[in-house]
Amino acid sequence: MNKNKLPKQEENFSDWYNQVIQRAELADYAPVRGCMVVRPYGWAIWENIQSALNKRFKDTGHVNAAFPLFIPMSFLEKEKEHVKGFSPELAVVTIGGGEKLEEPLVVRPTSETIIGHMYAKWIKSYRDLPVLINQWANVVRWEMRTRLFLRTLEFYWQEGHTAHATAEEAKIETRQMLDVYTDFAVNVAAVPVVPGLKSDNEKFAGAVRSYTIEAMMKDTKALQSGTSHYLGQNFAKAFDIQYLDLNNKLQYCWTTSWGLSTRFVGAIIMTHGDNQGLVLPPRLAPIQVVIIPIFRSEEEKKAVMNAAGKAEKMLSGLRIKVDDRIEMTPGFKFNDWELRGVPLRIEIGPKDVEKNAVMIARRDIPGREGKSSLPIDSLKAQIPAILDDIHDNLLAKATKFRDDHIYNPNDYDEFRSLINSGWAYSYWCGDKACEAKIKKDTKATIRCIPFDQKNINGKCIYCGKEAKQKAYFSRAY
Ligand SMILES: [Zn+2]
Repeated sequence: MNKNKLPKQEENFSDWYNQVIQRAELADYAPVRGCMVVRPYGWAIWENIQSALNKRFKDTGHVNAAFPLFIPMSFLEKEKEHVKGFSPELAVVTIGGGEKLEEPLVVRPTSETIIGHMYAKWIKSYRDLPVLINQWANVVRWEMRTRLFLRTLEFYWQEGHTAHATAEEAKIETRQMLDVYTDFAVNVAAVPVVPGLKSDNEKFAGAVRSYTIEAMMKDTKALQSGTSHYLGQNFAKAFDIQYLDLNNKLQYCWTTSWGLSTRFVGAIIMTHGDNQGLVLPPRLAPIQVVIIPIFRSEEEKKAVMNAAGKAEKMLSGLRIKVDDRIEMTPGFKFNDWELRGVPLRIEIGPKDVEKNAVMIARRDIPGREGKSSLPIDSLKAQIPAILDDIHDNLLAKATKFRDDHIYNPNDYDEFRSLINSGWAYSYWCGDKACEAKIKKDTKATIRCIPFDQKNINGKCIYCGKEAKQKAYFSRAY
C-alpha cells in the first residue's frame, strides 16, 4: 500500500477516485490505453452485483444465454440510427487467420443486431413469445476519454433483449426492468437513483424511448447507472423478427433492451466513498466483516485467536475475514480495511476476551462514535441487524446529499451558477435547440425527465416558452 495520504475529495475528486481504485486494488490500467484490468477485489463486487441482478431477472421470468463477440458489419448497417450512433466507437476486425476477411467483423458494442438476427430465426408464432433473454458479456466501444470503471474501451455488463407480441407488453417490460434496476440500486447498493425518461437527444441509438436511472456522485455530477430501452418495431423491421398471430397473419415483434455495467462499481465508489477511502454497501461488499485479533504475547494470542475463531463461527453465512497477518500492526490493518471499505470491523484484544466481548467499528460512522462493545454471544443476532442499519444509513446519507444539491433555479442566470454545484430541476419546453444551447453554455445535459409530471406548468428555463415538463439537468460522467 502506498504510504502517501489519499488526496482529499474536496481538493481533487478525480485524483481521489483514481487513487482509491488503485490503492484498494479494485482495478488497474492495462497496456492498451483505455482498457482496464479488474482485480479480484473489484471483480468480487461485480460478482455480487451479478448475483443480485440475476436473482431479480430470473424472478421476472428471464433466462441467460451467450451470443458471439463478433458481428458482421452489415448487421449494424441494417438499423440506420443504430449504425449512426455507434460507428464512431466501433472496433473492426478486417484480418482473420492471416487473411483479409470478405466482410469486416465488428467487435460488439452492444448486441441488438446479432440477437435480432437470431430472434428472426427462432420466433415463428405467437406461441414463441415473449422471448426474455439476458446475457452477461463484455463489449467494446472505442472511447477517446477513458476513466476506470466509468468509461473504458472494453467493459462488462449485462444486456437483456426481449421480444413481444404487442407494443403494450414491450412497454411494460421496459418499465419493469427500470424498476428492477431502481430496486437493485436503492435496496442493494444504497445508491438513491432518480429514474426517468431520456430526452430524444440522449436516447439510445435505435430506440423509440430510453429510460435511465441517474445517480448523483459526491462531486454532484450525474452518473447514468443503468438504462432500459423501448425499441418499438425498429429492430424487428430491420431484422425481420416476425410471428404468426392467432389469425395466422404475419406481424412484426416489439422489442426491448436494457443494460447495467461495471460502471455501477464507479457509482458505488463515488456515492459512498470518503477521505479514508472506499465505503462499500454491506449487501455488495466482498468482505462484510473483518475480524482483527490484537495481542502482544503468545499467551494473549492463544486466547484472542480462540475468541476470533468463535466470532467467525457465529457469523458463518456472512462474508467474513479474519486478518491474522502478524507482520502488520493493528493500526495499519484498521487503515487498510477502512481504505478497502469493509462495512464493519471487529476488534478482539485480551481485555475484550476477559469481558467475553468484542469491539465493533462501523465504516459508515467515523471515529469513536462508530465504535461500541458487544457481548461475543450476541454477535449472531446483532451483526446482521447492524449491517442492515449501515445500509440504511448509507442510503439516508446519500439521499440527503442528493436532495441538498438539487436546485430549482428561478432564471437562467441562476441556473448557470448553480449547475456547477449540483443538479437543476427545471422547466423545459421540449425543444432540442434549448437543450443544445444549455449544453453548450454549461456542459449540463438533460439527465432525465422524471415520471411524476402531473399538473406541471411553467416557463422553459432557457427560452421562457410554455413548458409542461420538468427535467433534471446536470454535468455528467
Ligand atoms: Zn425552451
